[in-house]
Amino acid sequence: MVDFFILMCYNVCRKTFKGDEKKMSRVCEICGKGKMDGKTVSHANNKAPRKYDVNLQTTEIDGKKVKACTKCIKTAKKN
Ligand SMILES: [Zn+2]
Repeated sequence: MVDFFILMCYNVCRKTFKGDEKKMSRVCEICGKGKMDGKTVSHANNKAPRKYDVNLQTTEIDGKKVKACTKCIKTAKKN
Protein backbone atom coordinates (compact mmCIF):
# COMPACT_ATOMS: atom_id res chain seq x y z
CA MET A 1 0.00 0.00 0.00
CA VAL A 2 2.79 2.40 0.97
CA ASP A 3 4.71 1.46 -2.14
CA PHE A 4 1.66 2.23 -4.24
CA PHE A 5 1.30 5.63 -2.55
CA ILE A 6 4.95 6.47 -3.20
CA LEU A 7 4.60 5.43 -6.83
CA MET A 8 1.52 7.64 -7.22
CA CYS A 9 3.36 10.59 -5.65
CA TYR A 10 6.32 9.99 -7.94
CA ASN A 11 4.10 9.98 -11.01
CA VAL A 12 2.29 13.17 -9.97
CA CYS A 13 5.58 14.94 -9.21
CA ARG A 14 7.08 13.85 -12.50
CA LYS A 15 4.04 15.09 -14.41
CA THR A 16 4.10 18.45 -12.60
CA PHE A 17 7.83 18.84 -13.21
CA LYS A 18 7.42 17.95 -16.89
CA GLY A 19 4.67 20.54 -17.26
CA ASP A 20 6.82 23.21 -15.67
CA GLU A 21 9.74 22.32 -17.88
CA LYS A 22 7.56 22.58 -20.96
CA LYS A 23 6.20 25.92 -19.81
CA MET A 24 9.69 27.29 -19.18
CA SER A 25 10.95 26.27 -22.60
CA ARG A 26 8.29 28.39 -24.32
CA VAL A 27 9.67 31.65 -22.91
CA CYS A 28 11.92 34.12 -24.75
CA GLU A 29 15.39 34.12 -23.14
CA ILE A 30 15.92 37.84 -23.85
CA CYS A 31 12.68 39.62 -22.94
CA GLY A 32 11.03 36.85 -20.89
CA LYS A 33 7.86 36.94 -22.97
CA GLY A 34 5.75 33.81 -22.55
CA LYS A 35 2.25 32.56 -23.25
CA MET A 36 -0.30 35.30 -23.91
CA ASP A 37 -4.04 35.30 -23.32
CA GLY A 38 -6.50 36.04 -26.08
CA LYS A 39 -9.76 35.03 -27.59
CA THR A 40 -10.63 32.91 -30.57
CA VAL A 41 -13.43 34.41 -32.65
CA SER A 42 -15.59 32.13 -34.77
CA HIS A 43 -17.41 33.12 -37.94
CA ALA A 44 -20.60 33.45 -35.85
CA ASN A 45 -18.62 35.92 -33.70
CA ASN A 46 -18.58 33.62 -30.65
CA LYS A 47 -15.62 34.42 -28.43
CA ALA A 48 -13.82 31.77 -26.42
CA PRO A 49 -10.60 32.17 -24.42
CA ARG A 50 -7.39 30.72 -25.83
CA LYS A 51 -3.64 31.01 -25.31
CA TYR A 52 -1.12 32.34 -27.80
CA ASP A 53 2.42 30.98 -27.89
CA VAL A 54 5.37 33.25 -28.58
CA ASN A 55 7.05 32.82 -31.97
CA LEU A 56 10.32 31.40 -30.63
CA GLN A 57 13.27 30.67 -32.89
CA THR A 58 16.72 29.31 -32.09
CA THR A 59 19.30 31.83 -33.24
CA GLU A 60 22.79 33.12 -32.55
CA ILE A 61 23.09 36.57 -30.95
CA ASP A 62 26.58 37.87 -30.06
CA GLY A 63 28.03 34.38 -30.64
CA LYS A 64 25.59 32.79 -28.16
CA LYS A 65 22.88 30.29 -29.10
CA VAL A 66 19.56 31.46 -27.64
CA LYS A 67 15.86 30.80 -27.99
CA ALA A 68 14.48 34.25 -28.73
CA CYS A 69 11.17 35.63 -29.95
CA THR A 70 11.11 37.02 -33.49
CA LYS A 71 10.68 40.59 -32.19
CA CYS A 72 13.93 40.30 -30.19
CA ILE A 73 15.75 38.83 -33.21
CA LYS A 74 14.61 41.79 -35.33
CA THR A 75 15.77 44.27 -32.67
CA ALA A 76 19.14 42.50 -32.32
CA LYS A 77 19.68 42.66 -36.09
CA LYS A 78 19.01 46.43 -36.13
CA ASN A 79 21.56 47.20 -33.40
ZN1 LIG B 1 11.82 38.39 -26.78
